[in-house]
Amino acid sequence: MFFFSGPFQIPAAHHPPPQQGFPTMPQPKAPPLPGQDYYNSRPYQPAPPPVSQYHGPPGPSTPSRPPEGAALHNHSMPPPPHTPPLSNSYSQHLQPRPGPYTQPPNQLTPTPSQGLVQTSVAYNSAAMTPPFPKALQSSAPPPGPAANLAMPVGGSYPPQPGHAGTSYPSLPPGYQSMQAPPSTLPTPPLTQHYPPQPQQYHQPPAGPAQLSSALSTLSLQSQTPEALLVLNLLQERNLLPAGPVPAPTPCLPQDLQKLNCSPEVFRSTLTSIPQTQSLLNKAKLPLGLLLHPFKDLSQLPVVTSSTIVRCRSCRTYINPFVSFLDQRRWKCNLCYRVNDVPEEFMYNPVSRSYGEPHKRPEVQNATIEFIAPSEYMLRPPQPAVYLFLLDVSHNAVETGYLDVVCQSLLENLNSLPGDTRTKIGLITFDSMIHFYNLQDGLSQPQMLIVSDLEDIFLPTPDSLLVNLSESKELVRDLLKSLPQMFTKTMETHSALGPALQAAFKLMSPTGGRVTVFQTQLPTLGVGALKSREDPNQRASAKDVQHLSPATDFYKKLALDCSGQQVAVDLFMLSAQYCDLATLGCISRYSAGSVYFYPSYHTEHNPAQTERFQKDLKRYLTRKIGFEAVMRIRCTKGLSIHTFHGNFFVRSTDLLSLPNVNPDAGFAVQMSIEENLVDMQVVSFQAALLYTSSKGERRIRVHTMCLPVVNSMSDIFAGADVQAITCLLASMAVDRSVTASLSDARDAVTNAAIDSLVSYRSSVLTIQQPGLLAPACLCLFPLYILALLKQRAFRTGTSTRLDDRVFAMYQLKYQPLSYLMLMIHPALYRLDDLTDEGALNINDRTIPQPRALQLSVEKLSRDGAFLMDTGSDLYLWVGKSCNPTFLNQVLGVQNYANVPLNQNQLPELDTAESARTRAFIGWIREQRPFYPVLHLIRDESPMKSSFMQNMIEDRTESALSYYEFLLHVQQQVSK
Ligand SMILES: [Zn+2]
Repeated sequence: MFFFSGPFQIPAAHHPPPQQGFPTMPQPKAPPLPGQDYYNSRPYQPAPPPVSQYHGPPGPSTPSRPPEGAALHNHSMPPPPHTPPLSNSYSQHLQPRPGPYTQPPNQLTPTPSQGLVQTSVAYNSAAMTPPFPKALQSSAPPPGPAANLAMPVGGSYPPQPGHAGTSYPSLPPGYQSMQAPPSTLPTPPLTQHYPPQPQQYHQPPAGPAQLSSALSTLSLQSQTPEALLVLNLLQERNLLPAGPVPAPTPCLPQDLQKLNCSPEVFRSTLTSIPQTQSLLNKAKLPLGLLLHPFKDLSQLPVVTSSTIVRCRSCRTYINPFVSFLDQRRWKCNLCYRVNDVPEEFMYNPVSRSYGEPHKRPEVQNATIEFIAPSEYMLRPPQPAVYLFLLDVSHNAVETGYLDVVCQSLLENLNSLPGDTRTKIGLITFDSMIHFYNLQDGLSQPQMLIVSDLEDIFLPTPDSLLVNLSESKELVRDLLKSLPQMFTKTMETHSALGPALQAAFKLMSPTGGRVTVFQTQLPTLGVGALKSREDPNQRASAKDVQHLSPATDFYKKLALDCSGQQVAVDLFMLSAQYCDLATLGCISRYSAGSVYFYPSYHTEHNPAQTERFQKDLKRYLTRKIGFEAVMRIRCTKGLSIHTFHGNFFVRSTDLLSLPNVNPDAGFAVQMSIEENLVDMQVVSFQAALLYTSSKGERRIRVHTMCLPVVNSMSDIFAGADVQAITCLLASMAVDRSVTASLSDARDAVTNAAIDSLVSYRSSVLTIQQPGLLAPACLCLFPLYILALLKQRAFRTGTSTRLDDRVFAMYQLKYQPLSYLMLMIHPALYRLDDLTDEGALNINDRTIPQPRALQLSVEKLSRDGAFLMDTGSDLYLWVGKSCNPTFLNQVLGVQNYANVPLNQNQLPELDTAESARTRAFIGWIREQRPFYPVLHLIRDESPMKSSFMQNMIEDRTESALSYYEFLLHVQQQVSK
């Protein structure tokens, strides 16, 4: 049994000084910007009634369908009288941040009443570039008052008055010396080793040296007729490709494109960059980047080099798109400064030859990782530190989650990324905070209870976070006993806020990762919340309230955490409303992640339990980077104006990421500040500096090169419809929070309309009737309709507020490939799988059924269909399903025996079973998190979740795809 020494009270004299409050600086509200009323110029009008040529889905084979002929509910969303100024709730105010080892300065923090909307004013100079394409018509925006408020950007921070001696370098001290000119550094011995994978450097030595000659042919190749093929969307009913929609290939000379960054890591909404902002405005397409910077890669060239070659002027890392003037000089592709080639760089360790700097791996790989030599560090990189914060209230214990977490931790304790320095700690909380002394040498863990929630202190600060290898047995003991310790609890309260404060205090000296498991609304101490959801409003066709946080406590604490290199991940397991809009801030601003398991119960909800177990395993064992920053640089003339994802914006191009994980995606919006007239290509470089779990400082660099074009047809030909959709989704989330949901819905609809208007007027030479789109954008209206029907943005369908908010979080930080499945799931027929066109991977045959349109028209009663939404797989079985499938795959005699709730397929020794399981297994292997399978038949409770994804069909509250096309056409022809 544990030694209970609580309630633990320490004399007042030992209390730490009260925490300094947050000095607030008045932040005037941003006045509306001139020229922004254009958002209202195209209200979303109801579509015309269905026309006769549209064959509605119902038919004898249609198993289920909303009542036909149901009146189209009022779909028009008249815009509010005034659209608020654009701002990005996720882009935080500019605030001086210290490096990992300095004290946090006083912060410029919004007053609580101002909430999130105003906080963006200081940083996101909305006056510069409005987010939605339509807004881009305003050329040379007037310097609004918001711009005057903006803190100086693009360099070091000015010292804060009253904080003498504190300056805020734009990089933490640990990285600073990397910025110093190489000559000031000690010259380490020339040691370079490379992983023994010669195939990594097999690319031909094309590129830099041949850059200029290759570029001379660029203009000849700038037409891609296929992408510009004109389609009348009203006639082409099936535009989905059979397989995944490929990323467009930038129109670069082949030698150059071969060296380009993988679209899985780095993608631009426009693969051809317009020469001027006015051209971009005219195209009405958003310009932005989508990044998956820390993605698990099967091949990653890693370079240990004493000299990391960077531009002396803009600090760009040398990359495949620089040009060599001669052997001794290279020209930066971002700022055009001519730099010297360092002596060490003259030697190529791959070919073991001298004098071929352009053949170095740094110049042959658009994605590369550097291990920074120790000479570059002022202090040792932090160890991996993991703190687990567990809700042990009655509600939490009742769900049974505690067993799952403790079991998973026990199983994966040896797989936590780290080394001999790895530290671990656990805190549990209900109405009090329970700490656990795990100091090596104790015979058993010691529980220390703190009941004073007002002024949280750490009872034994040095023994709560302990060295994992030294205290492993104590940690195991604790994990084994924890689930039983609270089984009898009657404590219903939750003091999450104070528990998080305790976690912050404990983690501040080192930084690291805090993992929070919470099952209800916090009810005690700071950060206590009240339910804000009115269940009667869930299906409201009007605007949704409470998408923004109820208190800024969690955001402020997250920013404090970020300053101390602490990220907080939130696992929310709740049957009730738990105000994710507020609680999620703790992760959003500390670069953490939010996981949500609605209606979690270990016994009653096996599908959720399975998902939770698999997610935890991935979460605990995946790669992690600590004390990270990511800087995105682009060629002179381009600039970044808004970031999307979970992070803190430290300066114009620098994101603070206390933790970085391989499953996090980011998006940025860009603008063209100076004309790119003399340039044939531009480049973008994302550099992620982090400390690995083994304590190495590493820099992962991705560089993407894109052509610059000056014709509208070239811009359109390079449009990446998936990247555009994902960027618009992020922008729409911001708009929903800062303005309103209906405003966001109008904006995404207008984005599709405006771009097609622009295409019609500036690219099409021959006007024809119909709704015309270039082939590369033919899926745009479908994706926009899918967004409008997505849980985050849908109206008229009962949607729980937390479900909606969680969907919005996912839209902001999921990498593109998963995002697209969330927006537009994939549908396949499974009962007639064949080996035709199958993939062959490691002697396994994986059938590749073609993707079907999301319409009940595509279902038939005699079949079985799989829908992949990214996080869930729905296997719908038709009433007259082919008996072979029932027998050979599901192992049942007839339809009546298909179980109502099942999450597994039996492993039958039949060819059909093997094919089906191979296909589902293959889908699962391709993503880090485990999609749960739901077997669905007509009577299944999950059926509605499946049917709601039939995006092309009409529902009582939303248009069918065809109706939506008619609506778009009507607006385009105006
Ligand atoms: Zn440069």
